[in-house]
Order: sequence, then C-alpha cells, then structure tokens
Amino acid sequence: MMLTGKHAIVTGGGTGIGLAIARALVAEGAQVTITGRRLEVLQEVAEDGMFPAVMDVTDEAQIVETTAAAVEARGPIQICVANAGIAEGKKLHKTSSEFWRKIMTTNLDGCFYTVRESLKSMLSTDWGRVIAISSIAGVRGAAGAGAYAASKHGVIGMMRSFAEDFLHEPYTFNSICPGYVDTPIVTRNTESISQRAGVSAEEARDIMVSSNRHKKLILPEEIAAAALWLCNPASESANGTEVHIAGGQI
Ligand code: NDP
Repeated sequence: MMLTGKHAIVTGGGTGIGLAIARALVAEGAQVTITGRRLEVLQEVAEDGMFPAVMDVTDEAQIVETTAAAVEARGPIQICVANAGIAEGKKLHKTSSEFWRKIMTTNLDGCFYTVRESLKSMLSTDWGRVIAISSIAGVRGAAGAGAYAASKHGVIGMMRSFAEDFLHEPYTFNSICPGYVDTPIVTRNTESISQRAGVSAEEARDIMVSSNRHKKLILPEEIAAAALWLCNPASESANGTEVHIAGGQI
C-alpha cells in the first residue's frame, strides 16, 4: 500500500477519469477527498476511503473553504489531482467572449485555485505530488475547440512553471495529456462533433476512435495508472513534464 497515510484531493472525482484516479489512490491506501458540483453523484460513487465534498472550481471562495475543511478533517493534502474540466468546442468566429470565459474559468482558473489551495498544506509536509489533467489538445491544438485547447495549454504551462518554483523541494508538478477517453465528456462531445462536422453521432464516434492508433477509446483506468505512476517513488525525477496517454496522437 504505497500511499497509506496520504491525503489526496481529486476534483471532478465523481465521474470518468477523476473517479478512476480516486479508486486507484484508495486502492493504494490513500484517503481521498472527491469533489464536484453534485453531492448526490459523489455520494453515490464514494467507497471506503473516499470523502465527498461539494466544490465548484469556478468559485474561489468555495475552493478555499472546502480545501481548508478537508485539511482540518484528514490532514495536509499531499496529492492534488486537478481534474475537473469541461470540454466544449466552437469555431473561432462562433466563440463568444462569454463562451471563452466559461472554458477558461473552469479549466484554467479552476486548476490554479485548486493547486494553490492544496499547496498551502502540502508545503508543511516532506512529500507532495500535483497532477493536472490537461489534454492532447493542450499540446497540439484541436480543430473547432480553440478555447478548450488554449485552457489546456495553460494548464501545462502552469505545471511546468510551478515545478520550476519548487525545483529544490520534495514536490512534483506534472500534467497528463489524454486522447479521447471513454467518459461522459466523450458522450457529450459526440453530439458537439457531429454538429460541427455535419455528420451522424456514429460517424462522430468513428472520428474519435480513428484518432487512436489502437482504434479504441482510451479507458479511464489507463489515465489512473499514469496518475499512480506519478505518485510512485520510481517516478521521482518526472517533474515539470507531461505524460501523454493519447493512443499515438502527437
Ligand atoms: P467527466 O465529464 O466525467 O468529468 C468532468 C468532471 O469535472 C465531472 O466530475 C464534473 O463534475 C467536474 N466539473 C465540471 N465542471 C466543474 C466545476 N465547475 N466545478 C467542479 N467540478 C466540475 O469527463 P472526464 O472524466 O473525461 O474529464 C475529466 C478531465 O479530463 C477534464 O478536465 C477533461 O478536459 C480531461 N480530458 C478528458 C478527455 C476525454 O476524452 N474524456 C480527453 C482529454 C482530457 P460535476 O459536473 O458534478 O461538477
């Protein structure tokens, strides 16, 4: 049990990738605060070792308050997984300022607040891991999803910079960049891609599957395995970098 005694927080921990990561951390003995906007979803999936808490990552005050309460209950956060995000796409000429801000506020500001608040308690400890879930779109861009890609590029830049800030401290900051993963986001994406590309939902799913050299959607557990590796002493030298789990998309 590699993570016994460690307190982790996973934002967006009630579904998809976040839930798979929370399960993997619990299986290694961690106590995991799982957060999201819907308490009923969190309570439904919570198993022994998981502690649901409502935390909207667009609400700075709520992040401050919820993080402090989790630390009070379970001790300093030593693993922070900034996973909560929304994936919606629009072509540039259809991207309103409101749409741009919605994506940035959730994906970029939310990641920043989450990591900053967790770090406050992590700094009192002698070991910490910060993992942000970016996207392969944060590396290569994504047609019809400029705001999303920009927010995910920002996440990578943040992790690289924070790693530099704490270069000589016992904490690491990395991003995971998934390709299309089989989660509720991809189900919603299917509609959005089919509308943008003017194809059926089935063809839209084919577009996503075809982008993967193994012709499949990636499993959330594959992303969780990467997160677990980043918490393993064997990955200590991975810092300020990105792990691509994208089925060969580069
Ligand atoms: P999900 O939709 O299952 O997960 C998104 C999670 O984020 C939900 O649990 C949701 O919970 C939470 N969330 C969204 N908005 C907020 C908010 N304002 N405050 C708090 N929580 C919020 O999809 P995934 O698991 O796929 O997505 C997880 C991450 O992975 C995202 O950052 C996404 O961009 C990234 N990603 C996903 C890929 C994929 O193909 N699936 C590919 C590349 C990256 P709730 O609605 O209850 O608040």
